[in-house]
Amino acid sequence: MSELRRDPITGRTVIIAPERLRPMALPLETLRGGSCPFCEGREAIAGREILAWRTPDHPHNGGGWRVRVVPNREPALRVESHYAEPADALFQRLGGLGAHEVIIESPDHGANWSTMTAYDLRVVLWAWRERIRDLRRDVRLKSFLIVKNVGAAAGATLDHAHSQLVALPFVPQHLEDERAGARARHDDTGSCAFCAVVDEEVRGGSRLVSTDDNTIAFTPFASRVPFETWVMSRRHGAAFDEETDEGLSAVAERLSDTLRRLYVALAAPPHTVLLHTAPVGEADRSSYHWHLEIIPRLSAESGLAWDGGIHVNPVAPEDAARHLRDSRRP
Ligand SMILES: [Zn+2]
Ligand SMILES: [Zn+2]
Ligand SMILES: [Zn+2]
Repeated sequence: MSELRRDPITGRTVIIAPERLRPMALPLETLRGGSCPFCEGREAIAGREILAWRTPDHPHNGGGWRVRVVPNREPALRVESHYAEPADALFQRLGGLGAHEVIIESPDHGANWSTMTAYDLRVVLWAWRERIRDLRRDVRLKSFLIVKNVGAAAGATLDHAHSQLVALPFVPQHLEDERAGARARHDDTGSCAFCAVVDEEVRGGSRLVSTDDNTIAFTPFASRVPFETWVMSRRHGAAFDEETDEGLSAVAERLSDTLRRLYVALAAPPHTVLLHTAPVGEADRSSYHWHLEIIPRLSAESGLAWDGGIHVNPVAPEDAARHLRDSRRP
């Protein structure tokens, strides 16, 4: 049973999970013979579905789906748990409340974001949006993260395209840092810092990968690792789950194009994709702006120090963006 603990010095919350975090824990024999639990036809092994996109002539929990959402078999946190008020002032245990779900992004075992169509990606984004919308109704939950790891070097334990949704009863440090910085800048300037960055990246162009009226892909000014790339909507919006269908379609087009470029430029790199969206509450509506961070994991040294460590990035984002602009599949 996992639990949340608050560090007595920094106040940072961590999840102590006795089992390693994996999307699925299955006996090895189940996986032998190419029998991936996420492939179509193995719905019973993957688990009872929370949400699916399928044609109406197929039954719930059966085949005929494009995207399926199931509970994580080894959840780091559970909605059935409680967020306990800490009894000990120094060593604070906060219970194991939260949600941990797996989004199976395609019935096709060989699919990835560079081969899936923009429409396929739109269905994935739809599933993310619907699940976050639903979980936002649970007043105990304060923040929502989507994490997608691709390749063993990025920590993926299954090849089949999937992402994980984690809902937390607190705001994790990285999101809190972004939120505090964005709020401070908003207090100073009266406008969204993310929108200001987007405008400047479109105007300057040196870190621009691609853009249109609705969306943008660019390599951030202070990229932490080589080829870090952000995908955003150019229209201000704090919460991803408030995006319209048209908004999702536009983002899916940009994501599809960006992943194709990354796969060409870096030869199918292991990578992590993070969705950062506003925590619960009205306070961040005008200062926070949801975004997707794509973080290639090109070497052990490019491992991320999410805890605020200093990153040494050997590739300037301007060079990475130029390379990505030139990388199109023939
Ligand atoms: Zn599979
Ligand atoms: Zn904005
Ligand atoms: Zn972020």
